[in-house]
Amino acid sequence: MPLRARGRRLHGELRDGVTAATTIRRLVMHREALLACRRCATVIGPPVCHPPRPSRIYLVGQAPGPREGARGRPFAHTAGKTLFRWFEAHGVDEAAFREGVYMSAVLRCFPGKAPSGGDRLPSAEEMAACRPWLAEEVALMKPQLIVPVGRLAIEQVLGARPASLAEVVGRAHRVKFLGRGADAIALPHPSGVSSWHKLEPGKSLLAKALGLIVSHPAWRAAFAG
Ligand code: SF4
Repeated sequence: MPLRARGRRLHGELRDGVTAATTIRRLVMHREALLACRRCATVIGPPVCHPPRPSRIYLVGQAPGPREGARGRPFAHTAGKTLFRWFEAHGVDEAAFREGVYMSAVLRCFPGKAPSGGDRLPSAEEMAACRPWLAEEVALMKPQLIVPVGRLAIEQVLGARPASLAEVVGRAHRVKFLGRGADAIALPHPSGVSSWHKLEPGKSLLAKALGLIVSHPAWRAAFAG
């Protein structure tokens, strides 16, 4: 039976001197401001923002695809199906995951298509423009565990471009991300375009990374029965 997130039960508890209710209020204001953001002329809105549910687990993806904006939630299409399947194997279904993990991205609007047909990679300028939204979320929620998903998010969270995914997936890293110290456990992008996680060594490294995530204290606190 899938585990349910216990995030709602944290409501009212003190977190570093700030009540969870205060954090939720601040996240509501943050979300309203983010959804109204039109800072970049080069992307296709609307921005996508997780519901105002505080979590100590902060997932950072690359950017929404063409459908997420209309659906108003991150990982709402095929990549999300794969991502949620990975965690379902560990007893956490999509609904529980969305409740217990705050899902962000280095860019919060769809960047558009690349000439090759896939989604365009966000530019350094676009990511810099969007970074204050992530910084505000990190400052508000003080995550203990950060899960960057895909090469671009991994590069942003670890602070350096890895030579290969095999170098960084399957290990826990200690990082300082946007001024906050946290553990980071990277995942490959679950996009159907990539086969890295289906072939060795990616398959074993993905299994190792998922094992590290679900045994992390922040995960256990969020999803303990
Ligand atoms: S990508 Fe980020 S900074 Fe740019 S318009 Fe969207 S939400 Fe605003």
